[in-house]
Amino acid sequence: MNKTPVIVDKGTSIDDIARIIVDAGMQHMVSGFIATTEGQYLGIANGHNLLTEITQRKQASLFHLAHYDQLTKLPNRVLFLDRLNVAIIQSDRQKTHVGLVFIDLDKFKHFNDSMGHSFGDELLIAVAERLVGCSREGETVARLSGDEFTILLDNVKSQRDLDILCNRILDAMKRPLQIMGREVFITVSIGSAMSPQDDDQSAGLLVKADAAMYEAKRSGRNAYRHYVPGMNLYSYERMTLETDLRMALERNEFELFYQPQVLLSTGKVVGNEALIRWRHPERGLLAPIHFIEIIEESGLIVPIGKWVIEEACRQQMIWMKSGLEPMCMSVNISAMQFYQSDFCEMVKSIVMESGIQPEHLELELTESVCMHDVISVLNPLQELHEFGIKLAIDDFGTGFSNLSYLNKFPIDRLKIDQSFIRNIDSEPVNIEIVRAIVALGRSMSLELVAEGVETDSEMNLAESCGCEFVQGYRFSKPLPADQLELWLNQFSAIQS
Ligand code: C2E
Ligand code: MG
Ligand code: MG
Repeated sequence: MNKTPVIVDKGTSIDDIARIIVDAGMQHMVSGFIATTEGQYLGIANGHNLLTEITQRKQASLFHLAHYDQLTKLPNRVLFLDRLNVAIIQSDRQKTHVGLVFIDLDKFKHFNDSMGHSFGDELLIAVAERLVGCSREGETVARLSGDEFTILLDNVKSQRDLDILCNRILDAMKRPLQIMGREVFITVSIGSAMSPQDDDQSAGLLVKADAAMYEAKRSGRNAYRHYVPGMNLYSYERMTLETDLRMALERNEFELFYQPQVLLSTGKVVGNEALIRWRHPERGLLAPIHFIEIIEESGLIVPIGKWVIEEACRQQMIWMKSGLEPMCMSVNISAMQFYQSDFCEMVKSIVMESGIQPEHLELELTESVCMHDVISVLNPLQELHEFGIKLAIDDFGTGFSNLSYLNKFPIDRLKIDQSFIRNIDSEPVNIEIVRAIVALGRSMSLELVAEGVETDSEMNLAESCGCEFVQGYRFSKPLPADQLELWLNQFSAIQS
């Protein structure tokens, strides 16, 4: 056995000491380690104690790794579910209630995709801090996964306690967050459920709070709902939808519908927007709201989006050959599709193979795409534009475009978001917004499209504000290709 004491400095890491002990076989040393700081004697320890200490610290750090989220330092799913189980058992004994709050960030994916992952990480950290700031001592704030957070309240007296907390969170999110030198506004959708009335099991309670959260999203986001029986249990639905979606492309279950765009000065249809639909074998025809987020988050948007471009170009060629007056085909592109390194090549080769003229294809990008770093967006945009393809910014006015960059991009059109057009006749502020967007667009020689025009009065106001193109139910809902052809015939007959 080694009897020579080993002198180590106090700052020596516990891992280094462990290595010394194990390497030298000193586990059984009775009094071997003398800790000093700058030569001053601090104490003596034996190999066995040190190893125990090391194991305990290792265990603590392993426990931390397994139970806490490393990014936000909040309890993770494992620890949260554990605490939830304990709370439910205790509340059963003490005849109290447990409250569960489920929080999901709205449009987090857009931030993450467009501003980069480190920005997304900082955003999550800032939101976590704000949530902790809203909660009281004894309430567990956890990060469940991605952009999902939960709060556990034991000892809840009534639903009112949950309502107060959730409204406090919605209020707190109204203040901007400071992320990497920028002011960012983000909203959340919140759902809550209570044990034992809504469910007396932790998994069930989680599903119900999640269902309430989805209901808040459906109501237009930035909202709070408490679970009520009969709400759809979306997380189950979502899981099955994702599985079905993985097969939908092979099974030919997607279809494109087309919505005409009218040039007001001539009253002619000058283009159509291709909008995807999913003919689900059991659920029937589904609009994008039911599945577009899932295909974006799962990455399925890349192959499905490619199919959309191919199908739209194929249809465009059919219409060109059929002798209809030339129209342009607009296709929606998700950020993730656009950032694929072969995106430009892919689009160009589809256009060439289909035989359509590049000028007859327009890609609709959202503002968030253009917020990504300018260079990586500018190059592909220029390449597509030089090839002849038209570019539009969709849902304009809802993101936060850096206006000084906008005129650097080779864009042809702005599509003014529906929310400004809807009720433009009853909400004067919308008129002001549309006028301002038109002025901005004109100063950059862009064409302006009003989206979501439903009534004559909305159409007239949009026109008086300077929108040259309109699209909306006032003319037609999106239709399958054959029905659109019939509609086009009738429409041109009425116009002439
Ligand atoms: P968007 O590109 O802004 O398309 C316009 C949406 O507004 C369409 O909904 C259309 O049916 C609807 N709309 C048009 N006129 C009116 C109106 O007068 N009143 C009302 N209330 N709604 C109107 P849809 O087809 O459900 O599509 C929703 C969104 O899904 C689209 O918004 C687009 O962002 C996305 N999307 C659709 N197809 C595709 C696709 O092939 N690829 C990608 N990446 N996204 C798609
Ligand atoms: Mg669009
Ligand atoms: Mg739009």
